[in-house]
Amino acid sequence: MTTRLKKSKAMIRLVRPMELTPEDLIYPIFVREDGKSFEIPSIRGQKYLSLDDAVDKCQDTAELGIPAVMVFGVLKEKDADGSIALRKEGFHAKVFKKLKRKFGDDLVLISNVCLCDYTTDEFCVYAEKGRVLNEKTADMLGKIAVVHAEAGADVVAPAAMCDGQVRHMRQALDAAGFDDVAVMSYFKTDSCLFQPFFEAMALSKTPRRGIDSSKFRTDIINEKVFMQKVNLDISEGADMVIVKPALTNLDHILRVKQKHSTVPIAAYQVSGEYAMIKASSEAGYFNKDVLLMETINSIKRAGADMIITYHAHEIAKLLK
Ligand SMILES: [Zn+2]
Repeated sequence: MTTRLKKSKAMIRLVRPMELTPEDLIYPIFVREDGKSFEIPSIRGQKYLSLDDAVDKCQDTAELGIPAVMVFGVLKEKDADGSIALRKEGFHAKVFKKLKRKFGDDLVLISNVCLCDYTTDEFCVYAEKGRVLNEKTADMLGKIAVVHAEAGADVVAPAAMCDGQVRHMRQALDAAGFDDVAVMSYFKTDSCLFQPFFEAMALSKTPRRGIDSSKFRTDIINEKVFMQKVNLDISEGADMVIVKPALTNLDHILRVKQKHSTVPIAAYQVSGEYAMIKASSEAGYFNKDVLLMETINSIKRAGADMIITYHAHEIAKLLK
């Protein structure tokens, strides 16, 4: 009789195998090089931050008991081959230096490492006639990782999904003396739920024109290829993994947990998931807090050790 185990709120909590805490959360921030701070049109309720605002936001994050931020830098200008990423005094380096100086080891700084942050075509990989250039992309990601590590990033997260990205990053970091910097590899399935994020990161109003970005994400229907990619990156030395989107990949989270029980798993509740929760509750269909906690707890139950979410501050407050 399971009703016996629901006799009281205390009983319900007693028998829970796990409970979500603010320590499970990672907060993504968008820091603008032009210093402008305003609401992100495609992710309403979240703001672009100037560097000073980012420091304040990270302070709030730490005070809420959230141990980590995922940093996205929005540049003033990009270039054709993304070589702007390797400037030692570039914007991303500036952000990590400032946050590291302020927070030391009290906040884990996770760096999103992808070509689309730097290239004018906003493509995640180098490509030639529609073919992904894996080695060239992975080599560049390794170089970018070193720039971010030097500036203070604790974790680098390769987001391009190209083959060999973890191997190149690990080798580059170790060779530069950053063997204490962890690699957290992204695994993405094809999804329309990334769209608000693309718009938030794009410099132009027509992002990723003419580019088939499904080339570097796995088919949503195919769990075997997804696991091939996970196995490859873990064999190359990924310390942690990120599964995204979360909602459409709960089975993948569980599958990774079962196959790689010793590797910490993060799930990314992406911009489209955020938008669905926000829009449907604003339209009066749901109570937002209830819907939010239901989705977050389902992600946790699927096996996520960490959850990257734009709702991190709200969740931490609800948990208090
Ligand atoms: Zn990218």
